[in-house]
Amino acid sequence: MPTPLHIPQAILDDMVAHARALDPYECCGLLAGNHGTVTQMYRIKNIVALEGAEKLSSFDPAKAAHLERLSPVERAEIAFVMDMADFSAAKKDMRTKGLDLQVVYHSHPHDPARPSITDIKIATDYEEIWTKINLPTPAYLLVSLMEKSKPDIRCYWIDGGMATQVPIMTAP
Ligand SMILES: [Zn+2]
Repeated sequence: MPTPLHIPQAILDDMVAHARALDPYECCGLLAGNHGTVTQMYRIKNIVALEGAEKLSSFDPAKAAHLERLSPVERAEIAFVMDMADFSAAKKDMRTKGLDLQVVYHSHPHDPARPSITDIKIATDYEEIWTKINLPTPAYLLVSLMEKSKPDIRCYWIDGGMATQVPIMTAP
């Protein structure tokens, strides 16, 4: 049984607000903290929501390197790509505040709160990248708006292509 992750209610609410603000596009962001307790949330711009999925092909290949390993069908399923400037700013802020990256979150406007095949594939591709950029491997959190009035939030470790649910404890 994986160790639960402690997330303050205010941050859970803020992620839902972020998901609703971008609906029908997906939102994405990072959660940071220490020792399994989240204390900070970073909204990261979703390039796809800003510029449209059709622009994906014109991205800097280095930024979207992981996309090349996906089939065209899987690539079409991708609805979020994190803005690298936002990501770097968040990473710098974490370092300044002595926080560890704990979670990468994104929303599923129409689908359940579990990783899609493509989500798992991308997470698997990223397993080696986190070490290279000196960040711990994060858990993946999904905010589902499938039932608009009843958002569902679930968190997973993705390891070797397998997703294992991580219990979320609400911290005050
Ligand atoms: Zn997804």
